[in-house]
Amino acid sequence: MSSRPILPGSTIGVLGSGQLGRMFAVAARRMGYRVHTLSPATDSPTGHLADREVTAAYDDLDAVADFARQVDVITFEFENVLAATTDCAARHAPVRPAGGVLQICQHRLREKTWLEQQAFPVTPFRRVASREDLEQAVAALGLPAVLKTAGFGYDGKGQMKLNRPEDLERGWEAMAGVEAILEAFVPFEREVSVTAARGLDGSFAHWGVVENEHRNHVLDVSTPEAPVSDTLYREAIDVTRGIVDALGLVGVLCVEFFVGPGNRLMINELAPRPHNSGHFSFDASVTSQFEQQVRAVCGLPLGSTTLLRPASMVNLLGDLWAGGEPDWSAALTDPDVKLHLYGKTDARPGRKMGHMLAFGRDRDDARQRAIAARSALTAGR
Ligand code: AMP
Repeated sequence: MSSRPILPGSTIGVLGSGQLGRMFAVAARRMGYRVHTLSPATDSPTGHLADREVTAAYDDLDAVADFARQVDVITFEFENVLAATTDCAARHAPVRPAGGVLQICQHRLREKTWLEQQAFPVTPFRRVASREDLEQAVAALGLPAVLKTAGFGYDGKGQMKLNRPEDLERGWEAMAGVEAILEAFVPFEREVSVTAARGLDGSFAHWGVVENEHRNHVLDVSTPEAPVSDTLYREAIDVTRGIVDALGLVGVLCVEFFVGPGNRLMINELAPRPHNSGHFSFDASVTSQFEQQVRAVCGLPLGSTTLLRPASMVNLLGDLWAGGEPDWSAALTDPDVKLHLYGKTDARPGRKMGHMLAFGRDRDDARQRAIAARSALTAGR
């Protein structure tokens, strides 16, 4: 693989066309790159900012090959594409991160098995391919436990908490015969994540340990500089570095952790791309996770990840539109609040429509301002 940098003026292809690709496109264009995006969607969040939006299924290999021929490097913002797609693309342009990284991260069972084999700390789990497997897994891990589909799940989709033995039947039926994974329910003290980048030359950068608060299994608030001990901080960064090195990652990857009882760190999952919990970096860090993805996949040196000011991010889900258009002016009354909307027109409940970031004196102040700004969106109703 050539290690010559792919210079500004070149074209970066992005598989996927959601908000992550949109923010990537902003960063790439600012640095003078062209951006092409491929996904089954039209008029997509990434397409709005891309030089070219190709609408095709990910398994339309003719379209993928045609797309790959017209770009200098390929990255993605949506990891659930088939190996056939990345293999096909890789015949025409470097794919970064490599298809093999996607294969591990898009499948919970493969991911957790890989992490366990590499001796990284992971939530206890068992494979469930039959009703009998489920019985045995529950016997081994106990209840409560969380049953999840093994492949293609995100934001709590395709998962179910099992509290009592009576829940097994319903849980198994909900999986509809697809391969699943049972995880011990972790009574966590907090959830944190580390987003990191690894360059073509193996260089490493990270945005520290971020505290994440979820609502209905979906990220709600993310605040950098999580209040964790120095030991836990070191461990989280070391584990993340170990993972990106072991994967030979070129790009950005997020590790989501539970801080379990006794300050024990356990990996919940990996995302081999910029992550919602790293969106604060777009405004609050010297180099955002999106710019870092550009730099990493183009073989440029990584930028500083220094946090410029205390900040906190809140997600804006489609539910906020239930009573009509949110009151943007009210939310922006605080001059230290920044608004990001992803250009999605269909505000379905639970759909990530945008986010807001607030700066503050310290992390608690920033968090409160971000939450207050979001409340102001619907306060006048
Ligand atoms: P996931 O889609 O697997 O990241 O799950 C979404 C959210 O559900 C997590 O961020 C947790 O808040 C919760 N969750 C998932 N798995 C577990 C688990 N094994 N124990 C406790 N909470 C969980």
